[in-house]
Amino acid sequence: MLCLSCGRVRPALNRDDYTSERARLITQHGLCVCKPPQLPRDARRS
Ligand SMILES: [Zn+2]
Repeated sequence: MLCLSCGRVRPALNRDDYTSERARLITQHGLCVCKPPQLPRDARRS
């Protein structure tokens, strides 16, 4: 749940990730502002 780069809470990926525990962690550690790793679209070629 925590970002390995900055140690803050990473943004929720889906609705199930929005938990009270996550909210509490965000208030303690803050929200990760790192850019999410984006896979190059051309990398997936069938
Ligand atoms: Zn981060």
